[in-house]
Amino acid sequence: MQISEDSTNNTASIKNLQGFDANHPPDPKLIDSCVHCGFCLSTCPSYRVIGKEMDSPRGRIYLMDALNEGEIALNTATVQHFDSCLGCLACVTTCPSGVQYDKLISATRHQVERNYPRSLSDKLVRQLIFSLFPNPDILRIFLIPLFFYQKLGISQAIRATGLLKIISPRLAAMESILPKITLKTFQDNLPTIISAQGEKRYRVGVILGCVQRLFFSPVNEATVRVLTANGCEVVIPKSQGCCAALPEHQGQTEQAKALARQMIDSFADTNVDYVIINAAGCGHTLKEYGHILADDPEYREKAKNFAAKVRDAQEFLATVGLTAKLSPLTDKPLNLVYQDACHLLHGQKISLQPRQLLQQIPGVKLKEPLDAALCCGSAGVYNMLQPDVADELGQQKVTNLLNTGAELIASANPGCALQITKHLQLQGKEISVMHPMELLDYSIRGVKL
Ligand code: SF4
Ligand code: SF4
Repeated sequence: MQISEDSTNNTASIKNLQGFDANHPPDPKLIDSCVHCGFCLSTCPSYRVIGKEMDSPRGRIYLMDALNEGEIALNTATVQHFDSCLGCLACVTTCPSGVQYDKLISATRHQVERNYPRSLSDKLVRQLIFSLFPNPDILRIFLIPLFFYQKLGISQAIRATGLLKIISPRLAAMESILPKITLKTFQDNLPTIISAQGEKRYRVGVILGCVQRLFFSPVNEATVRVLTANGCEVVIPKSQGCCAALPEHQGQTEQAKALARQMIDSFADTNVDYVIINAAGCGHTLKEYGHILADDPEYREKAKNFAAKVRDAQEFLATVGLTAKLSPLTDKPLNLVYQDACHLLHGQKISLQPRQLLQQIPGVKLKEPLDAALCCGSAGVYNMLQPDVADELGQQKVTNLLNTGAELIASANPGCALQITKHLQLQGKEISVMHPMELLDYSIRGVKL
């Protein structure tokens, strides 16, 4: 196939003529398993929005092959098509030939970050993201001025001028999804060990996440209450940091490995039956630790053992069964729509479990949206790095969710919740987005919405 390269003025593309290096390039056997049938195209969000073959799974696999064969260079013209991939893994679900695109794009992203010299502005934005988001303690310091920025109404004034979007669309995108910063953002209230209520069935570890810990601490508190109410003793090691999802998805190899090792060490002496996570993107990466640390002789086995214990909170509860009594959330039937996070649906094949749990709440009527399997555009930090495509997808997702007539949206990923909330606000809708663990917690405690 002829690969066309877009023209560009970026000097990086002129100077850089190298392809992939020898350190784990995309596996040619996996590339060859693609039979170019094109079934994946209609379910690929980047292809839907951009409409070019090279921004589809099949097109990107062609590019990987050509790079492996040394037929084209890793330059701006090629990298832009890898950058436009949301990593949503819808193509993995759709592909009838079982092409492991997840492994291919992961290998490619690590190659890109090692071998492609990004422009200064791109580098700066990425460095800001990778030094802040995986470090909750540093992010908290950064959030102090932003707390006053919101409190004093500067945020509304800046948004009204649209100035930030003119200066930097990426900074404007970051600002637009910034949730409300409260005093809770600066506290870690959960103790290290929380006893099970009633008879103890399991001893489980809980991972707090980074964005989840800062902006969605009520979700973590609800998760712990739901687990203890259902017979779990909960262990939360204080030394735990970031799960590595963000750097792993963006090809930051060494940072991802270091964070994975730190997480494994945090749980080393806890003697837990399972490690529970309530954020879809984190759960997918935690289950991949065996792959991330496959080249590390000291951690290879530990990583596999750790990954084998990881369970999404909903996956775990649906499997072991709820023992706590549930009560209605409202006095009349509640129309609820569950939004599938890609890293649960496509990454972990978890779709029935959240629905089964939510339907156990008395009075809940579950609605199904159009294009439920299509990404909302959040995709980790994608909505900050590729705001135009992300906005188009966010707008489509919210329209489809609203069209169900639901009065409440349930979402099990902090990134999706932020993206959906942003687009609900843009469409002038005041509908709450809650985590299924919060809904279960309310139902167990008899709290009405
Ligand atoms: S990735 Fe799968 S669905 Fe897509 S073109 Fe290749 S074989 Fe077909
Ligand atoms: S991961 Fe998502 S965006 Fe990327 S090629 Fe697959 S379907 Fe398209």
